[in-house]
Amino acid sequence: MGNEMVIGVDLGGTHMRTALIDLSGNILRRQKTATDISHGVQQTTQRLIAECRAQMVAAAELGGAVAGIGLGVAGKVDHKRGWVIFSPNLPAMRDYPLGPEIEQSLGLPVLMENDANAFGSGESWVGAGRGIPNWVGLTLGTGVGGCLILNGKLWNGDDLGFVGEIGHLIIHPEGPPCACGLKGCLEAHASGSALLHFVADAATQGDLTSGPLYELWNDGKLNAREIYHCSVAGDPVAKKAFSRMGWALGLALANLFTVLGIRTAIIGGGVSAGWDQFIEPLRKSLAEHSSMLVVADAVIQRSVLGDDAALLGAARLVLEHRSLTSI
Ligand SMILES: [Zn+2]
Repeated sequence: MGNEMVIGVDLGGTHMRTALIDLSGNILRRQKTATDISHGVQQTTQRLIAECRAQMVAAAELGGAVAGIGLGVAGKVDHKRGWVIFSPNLPAMRDYPLGPEIEQSLGLPVLMENDANAFGSGESWVGAGRGIPNWVGLTLGTGVGGCLILNGKLWNGDDLGFVGEIGHLIIHPEGPPCACGLKGCLEAHASGSALLHFVADAATQGDLTSGPLYELWNDGKLNAREIYHCSVAGDPVAKKAFSRMGWALGLALANLFTVLGIRTAIIGGGVSAGWDQFIEPLRKSLAEHSSMLVVADAVIQRSVLGDDAALLGAARLVLEHRSLTSI
């Protein structure tokens, strides 16, 4: 069939992004709209269907046809049935058959993955992971997502609805509380929220009493980007927050590399923009916690696709599914 295209969707708590993508992984057209789940799950689903329909019209205008839709959704998903089991950013979408609903409305196959897995799939298709058979992926955002690419394929484990949850590796059992309910996870050290909590704790404990970082906290305007700017400007508390992040990431990667016998990590997500503030502590910690690996052989790379990784990875699911079913 000539001029086929696929639709990639990245469904987040704030925005839903869709893209029309060709079979070589080029984005032909993209759209972004507010998710706004306050009017209910049905309305959000209808908006997403309308966005996909608009992409199908655009495909036809380009002389093509859409072969399927790939969805990347944060949280626990049943990728075999296309159900959202639980999404922390979309709590109303619990045990919800999002994939089948879209499939029924549009008459196209719909594939679904967790957003961090979609990131891994996208980076390995046309991004930093291209041609690298084995690597660990991390997405640093409000939380920490993870994925494993082994033998060139996304590792799916036993299909339990979660896999590659590197953000919930416990790296300090007595450490700070994590959103998952446990203590001391990587996410509680290396996410955007971990940076915020670190600074807020310093302020409430009297370790941060003045300066721009204190003012931001005091005015309720603290965010990861501002903490980054304060760290670059030399604020010791902001620097400590980023060096703790690097330490935690290095420790987690040392453990993963040792277990898997691999040496490459690709790091993306919005908070990875703070790279220059955490990469040295990360490398130092990786070296300190590695007994088998020749640390000079380790490759720690940044994502090259940025926000597009999950869109492209979701789209790739459709192509992989089709090549499997056509055998
Ligand atoms: Zn956790």
